[in-house]
Amino acid sequence: MASGWGEGSTLSGMVPNLKALAARLPAAPRTRFAPAPTGYLHLGHVVSAIHVWGIARALGASVVLRVEDHDRGRCRPGYEAALREDLAWLGFVPDLGVPLEGPPAPSAFRQGDCSPRYEAALAWLRARGLVYACRCSRRDIARQGPDVANEESRYAGTCRDLGLPEAPGLGLRVRMAPGEERFDDARLGPQVQEPSAQCGDLLVRDRLGQWTYQFAVAVDDLAHGIDLVIRGEDLLASTGRQLRLARLLGRTVPPVFLHHPLVRHPGGAKLSKANRDTGVRELRAAGMLAVEVIGEAAYRAGLQPDPRPLAADDLPDLFTTLQPAR
Ligand code: GLU
Repeated sequence: MASGWGEGSTLSGMVPNLKALAARLPAAPRTRFAPAPTGYLHLGHVVSAIHVWGIARALGASVVLRVEDHDRGRCRPGYEAALREDLAWLGFVPDLGVPLEGPPAPSAFRQGDCSPRYEAALAWLRARGLVYACRCSRRDIARQGPDVANEESRYAGTCRDLGLPEAPGLGLRVRMAPGEERFDDARLGPQVQEPSAQCGDLLVRDRLGQWTYQFAVAVDDLAHGIDLVIRGEDLLASTGRQLRLARLLGRTVPPVFLHHPLVRHPGGAKLSKANRDTGVRELRAAGMLAVEVIGEAAYRAGLQPDPRPLAADDLPDLFTTLQPAR
């Protein structure tokens, strides 16, 4: 990387202090990249991968690839095949988890293959009197009125004391007792969240029998021994409830969380899988090289001052160069 900027530059505010982060982690820490195969990889995913692999390699951490296909309605095997291929093309190779190469095989790192793990976690919570059946639909909850302090609907606890027997067609919720969750985000600093006020009792299995994101991710981060969760700022509000769930599941040492900035279009709109213009496949078909795609993503995330090409192997330098001079 060219010198003349970096240390002391305003960009250094975009990255965590690696020394402080390392001090909070065990030896040989483990992090993860956890895409949902509900579409093709786009620049937003590349930004996440840059942070996950760049920080992991700078810290000597290993990277787990977890496929989060808990939402059967939206996931497609073709999307998983495509994301493995795109990650391999970009040069983001995991140390553990779903492999990039070879025919798809059942894996302890693919949520769709792990129902017994979620059943066991549910049984643990149930045995502690924390689970109840719920017949409310998403529409019922939305109709209760916009409890939108945090731009999300809070479940009011309608079924909490009804004692409904668990049955197909009913959801399952975990009680979220009032109380704050505090954590020190490795980039954003101290955070305080109150799950009972933000979301209320958390859905763990929906009325179709699907495990929810919040539940599956807390169970898996524990089962996979994840010490460091690196993901986009759009998931910041989920962290308190995941910490709570992890504790209810018996986790004693929570992971360290690091929420990275999101890439936005120039107009400020969030990137989504529908934005074809930023799909890795489209960029590749248009003739861009992997180093150019990574360079563009790093630029849009504010990690470099221009979209100069950047190889996956050089990412640790990106983070070490930007270290604040403290
Ligand atoms: N599967 C989630 C997503 O693709 C990310 C989960 C996480 O990092 O906690 O948005």
